[in-house]
Amino acid sequence: MQTPIPEYLTELLDDCAGDTSGATADYIPELGEADPNRLALALCTPDGTVYSVGDDSIEFTIQSISKPFAYALALRDRGMEEVDEHVGVEPSGDPFNEISVDPESGRPRNPMINIGAITTHCLVGNPSLTTKARAAVVLDGLSRFAGRTLEVDESVHASEYSTRYRNVALASMARSNGFIDIEPDDAVWGYTMQCSALVTVRDLSVMAMTLALGGRNPVTGEQVVPQWVCRQVLSVMTTCGMYDAAGDWLSHVGIPAKSGVSGGLLGSLPGQVGIGAFSPRLDDFGNSVRGVQLCERLSADMSLHIMELP
Ligand code: GLN
Repeated sequence: MQTPIPEYLTELLDDCAGDTSGATADYIPELGEADPNRLALALCTPDGTVYSVGDDSIEFTIQSISKPFAYALALRDRGMEEVDEHVGVEPSGDPFNEISVDPESGRPRNPMINIGAITTHCLVGNPSLTTKARAAVVLDGLSRFAGRTLEVDESVHASEYSTRYRNVALASMARSNGFIDIEPDDAVWGYTMQCSALVTVRDLSVMAMTLALGGRNPVTGEQVVPQWVCRQVLSVMTTCGMYDAAGDWLSHVGIPAKSGVSGGLLGSLPGQVGIGAFSPRLDDFGNSVRGVQLCERLSADMSLHIMELP
């Protein structure tokens, strides 16, 4: 007989709990304060059922996991052609905060690294929006993916904004190359607001399942973005979502995924499952050590690799 899902998830969590390798990110001072022992996992199925274990009610900032969703919103609002003129879809193989642009055009390489994500944030909504209004549209979009109203962690936002200089350098490069037309400080203010949205692993699993269902939230039933947008977003997540570990991740785990520097990890398998994991200690690539392990196990135990024959 097959093990029921909740028991299986508990077993999985227990197996990974002992690994205390890696370190929490502290370049955003407030993130260094996080409890490194937190561990949680959630799965959402296509009918909207969410199974979760561990610290599943603990909220953490979404950070870079917001990037594919902001990309989805930009595609919804501006269409493929306009977004493509501003940000590419080529994996960079670079760390998340690298100045990674096409050498000829100066265009940010993809929306999953910071320079592309800052550019993408600026493409959400109507071009005439104020910085604050644009951040509100992004937050509204993230909330629709999650199926509930998400709040912002103001202290993480303040902490990241007060140490924003690397991201301002990236925004300045994007501006000087002609890919954004708002002040770098403002672009980073909005982008870091987006990164400071608070989620649980349950939220991540629903957001992932919404992408995996072609944009329809399985809990609320809302069509959040058109289906073609999700195909585009999942493709870019597959090649670029895990930064410079993306190739290893795809061959090894084979689930379109996105990680964030606070220790969240989201996996989205088309038509099948949405995964949310959380554990703050990170590996050298900036990916959650135990989050990666949990996904490796899920992929192996349930044959979730995208290239696996059915
Ligand atoms: N807000 C973070 C930053 O811009 C996001 C990085 C991440 O999660 N990898 O530095």
